[in-house]
Amino acid sequence: MSHLRRLDGLDEVKPLLDADDHTVLRRLAMPTLLRVPGTDARPRARFVATLLHGNEESGFWAVADLLRSGARFPFDLWVLIGNVAAALADGPFGHRYLEGQEDFNRVWEREPVRTPERRMAAEVLATLDGLDLEAAIDLHNTTGHNPPHVIVPGDDPRMLGLAGALGGLALRWRLTAYTSMEAVGRRCPAVAVECGMAGVPANAALAADVLRRFLHLEAVPDEGAPRELYEMRERVVVRGEVRFRFGGELDDGVDLVLARGLDAANFTMLLAGTTLGWVRPGTAVPLRVTDMADNDVTDAVLDVAADGRVVLRHDATPVMMTRDEQQTRRDCLFYVAQRR
Ligand SMILES: [Zn+2]
Repeated sequence: MSHLRRLDGLDEVKPLLDADDHTVLRRLAMPTLLRVPGTDARPRARFVATLLHGNEESGFWAVADLLRSGARFPFDLWVLIGNVAAALADGPFGHRYLEGQEDFNRVWEREPVRTPERRMAAEVLATLDGLDLEAAIDLHNTTGHNPPHVIVPGDDPRMLGLAGALGGLALRWRLTAYTSMEAVGRRCPAVAVECGMAGVPANAALAADVLRRFLHLEAVPDEGAPRELYEMRERVVVRGEVRFRFGGELDDGVDLVLARGLDAANFTMLLAGTTLGWVRPGTAVPLRVTDMADNDVTDAVLDVAADGRVVLRHDATPVMMTRDEQQTRRDCLFYVAQRR
């Protein structure tokens, strides 16, 4: 059984999109790879991924509006609409992924290819391998307050050039996380774009703007860089056995209360001594910090003070700090980045 639906040409695509979000998602029903044929005889291609996380709607809205407009480009435009089932459940745009599913942005070139999500990713990559692929973007939202930013999965100067053409703020991420743009980035310049928080209608306009810039680039610049470039350094998670919530008082229900509002500091600075949360005095550090090679560096970054405050040992720039408990469990609490 295929794990991917395919649509070819606007004649197949447009009638499906002529409805409200819920209906469109119900019609799509499964991950969908579609092609809008180019106007140029030269068979080159660009790729746009969206909704790999079913609760991140900005990119989907931007892509759906583009497809409804009937616009065509000198190149073949390939679009992946990813986790339709998670978007549909309790939605529209209900879940990042469903219980029993893998995260759609953690399955690319991940062995063994035995799950439906990994097969879907492998099918998409097999299709892309047959194309003269110029460039790719993957549109996301965050679950905490973050300025819009571009995630660059590698060191190719053309990836930085592409990032610079799409936005002023970028984050270089060398972590091996089996994301789509890591895999696609081995085939052409590819970046992910975090279009601000999910659930904010204005961020669809931002995603549309990014998409427009991407589609109207004459060529991928082979030099240039974003104005501000950060490097991903560490990942901070709540230890699996620790029960936690954001805000409130410590009580029998939780081992850790996380400070509210720290996501306001994303891409700025939290100073040494900042309180990230509270545990009962004498408790071990309830968070775990790993570097990009997965070494445990918790003790270098965090401490528990005598009064139970969980504090930073040194100044740190948080990025992608979330305010969502499920997201904290499913991905992480935040990353630590360093300005380049
Ligand atoms: Zn995402």
